[in-house]
Amino acid sequence: MVAGKANAADIMTHRIDDIALPHGRPGTVRHIRIHRFGQEGARPKAYIQAGLHAGELPGMLVAQHLAEKLASLDAAGAIRGEIVLVPMANPIGLDQVLHGDLSGRFELAGGVNFNRAFADLSGPAGDMLAAGQPAPLGSDAQVNAGLVRAALAAAAISLSPRTQADGLRQILLSHAIDADLVLDLHCDSEAVMHLYTTSAGWGGGFADLAARLGCEAAFLAEGSGGEPFDEACSLPWQNLQARFAPAGHPIPDGCAATTVELRGEGDVDDMLAAADAKALLDHLSWRGHLALSAPPVETALDLATPLAGVERIRAPVGGIVLFHVEPGQSVRAGQPVATVLEPLSGKRHVCQAGIDGPVWSRSRARYASPDDIILSIAGREPLATGSHLLTAR
Ligand SMILES: [Zn+2]
Repeated sequence: MVAGKANAADIMTHRIDDIALPHGRPGTVRHIRIHRFGQEGARPKAYIQAGLHAGELPGMLVAQHLAEKLASLDAAGAIRGEIVLVPMANPIGLDQVLHGDLSGRFELAGGVNFNRAFADLSGPAGDMLAAGQPAPLGSDAQVNAGLVRAALAAAAISLSPRTQADGLRQILLSHAIDADLVLDLHCDSEAVMHLYTTSAGWGGGFADLAARLGCEAAFLAEGSGGEPFDEACSLPWQNLQARFAPAGHPIPDGCAATTVELRGEGDVDDMLAAADAKALLDHLSWRGHLALSAPPVETALDLATPLAGVERIRAPVGGIVLFHVEPGQSVRAGQPVATVLEPLSGKRHVCQAGIDGPVWSRSRARYASPDDIILSIAGREPLATGSHLLTAR
């Protein structure tokens, strides 16, 4: 190194931690790999993970591009605050190969979807804050935000997982719960690019992300009912606002979290992934997580529709599925969208759209069991009345 001249290596912050999952079966051990860029504890903090549903490879591929780009940006001193990246969030699911097929969506041992049942930390964090821990809430929203983050982080560490899957959930949540921005990268079965978030998340910047990614749908819900990862990060802020704001303790929307669905399972392509990674990094720049200027983009706030407005077309009988429409195609109420052919009788059952809207997802499987969801349409008006808006599968 030349005296007096900074070497890029001197300012590099990239660190990799491998954390062992607890509660492995005797004689086995699995690890989760965490990439850290920037200064630990510095603001703003972004958290990005991929592959929580282990068979969803587009996100894991995008994460590899992100890791490479973030390492370059780190060497150039362009990371602001802290960025945490988990490129392969589910080593349990990735290990679940059954007769040659990867089955990474549900934990085989317990049957629970890996992106459900994340702990709601609002209660324990709220109780800590009510007791003046780590310090009493005041009238300054930004000071209160710091206290909320500390309480949420303490609540995450206090969880007592009893299975390896819950241990994984705790490790992931502990790294994300105090972030300003959480991006959970998934994909659908066969689908256009889309995302899920809350109204606050959408108004707070995810319209920009949707525009950069080329999303053709965005679904809003204030709690979809399944305790997915993104909501475990964002909803505590709303719950704590409701609890403490009436007493004169304002709390901001401290965490913007979204589940990004990078098209369908088969859309595993290096060029697409490179473009998607660039869109994500441009969004990070736009939010101030990188010392770069983001190229301008035209947002469309009216892209978002209620998650409760999604029409799920179900197979009326078991049989061979013949689709009449592609993801991305707009349909009208009454239009035939699929036929299910009963292989014993040869009888054909035509399924019609019940609403107007774009088809944003359809099943990759061409054989359906009775009542399987085979296709989804984004409607503008709420349809669902139940509290569980996400599909199990
Ligand atoms: Zn998923």
